[in-house]
Amino acid sequence: MGFFSPLFQPPGAKAKRNRFIELVTTKNDPGHAALTRRKALALMSTTAAAAFVPAFDLDAAPLQYTLKPQRLTDGIWMIPGAQEAISQGNGGAIANVIIFDTSAGAVIVDTGPSRRYGEALAKLARDLTGKNIARVYLTHFHPDHVFGNQAFGADQIAAPKGVIDGLKVMGEGFADAMYRTAGDWMRGTELVLPGKAIETGVEDFGNRRIRSLTMRGHTSSDLVLFDELSGVLIGGDLAFLDRAPTTPNADIERWRISLANLGGIPHRLLVPGHGPAEDGTRAIQQTRDWLVAINEIISKAFERGLSMNEAMAEPLPKWTEKIALARYEYERSVTHLFPKLEADGLPRVDVETP
Ligand SMILES: [Zn+2]
Repeated sequence: MGFFSPLFQPPGAKAKRNRFIELVTTKNDPGHAALTRRKALALMSTTAAAAFVPAFDLDAAPLQYTLKPQRLTDGIWMIPGAQEAISQGNGGAIANVIIFDTSAGAVIVDTGPSRRYGEALAKLARDLTGKNIARVYLTHFHPDHVFGNQAFGADQIAAPKGVIDGLKVMGEGFADAMYRTAGDWMRGTELVLPGKAIETGVEDFGNRRIRSLTMRGHTSSDLVLFDELSGVLIGGDLAFLDRAPTTPNADIERWRISLANLGGIPHRLLVPGHGPAEDGTRAIQQTRDWLVAINEIISKAFERGLSMNEAMAEPLPKWTEKIALARYEYERSVTHLFPKLEADGLPRVDVETP
């Protein structure tokens, strides 16, 4: 039920990884046979290991994130994520990140996939606003949204308790998976837990008041944010647009309830976790339609007695052809939802009744 599925490792990644670990283990730490790729990349952030960089990545593109902020409205920018899966090509920069200018400083929503992304983001926020960072919010615990945390003070980072608890349990596993999938981009990245737990409420930043609403469904804890000054509503990964939703930690029923609640909040602009910001509620409707569709296809496949592989081959509705990663995320959703159906469908072995 991990966030990443080994089924979708890019070809060639393994050979390269092994060669890399060999380099580092033999030259840098010969006695440490159990060195993982993650530890190896973390080691490379030290100057002593810097000499290994050209030896390993001569053929790789320069690993610099180029953050291109889009102005949404006065004093609010979105750095759009690539409408792709996490890969060594995009460095995991697939989720939208938001920067607010407030009279109390810059307010950031989500920190991106890696330390290097977080550092670029912090610099960008200071450049755009001419101010220091006043607050960082995390919408949920998924790795493409939280591993830039290192660029900020833990006390600046606020998230619902459920997000913090989720990171405590799953954060290290997410970090390992990110190192495996995004590779060298992750160098030096470590998990940083938010220092401030928040619930539904408001926070004032001088001219802006930002409202926090805790929901769930995409994960066990999803934060929605609403800026009263602009009417901008940030849905996090409860809302996807033109990119198929991810379901590794989803509760589909709860998610649909949260989408209905999200749709009930009057707003001028809706920012999904992935996909373009728009006025209206297209992201909410499309996410709901997707969840209804895949839930039905997967449940019916299960009822017909299909195997997981057969279920993955089932046709998707025509309209999903326009959705990025539709087949890919549908297949992953089969691996997430099928085991739950199997657990529910098998006869229960209860304790003997007297
Ligand atoms: Zn997510």
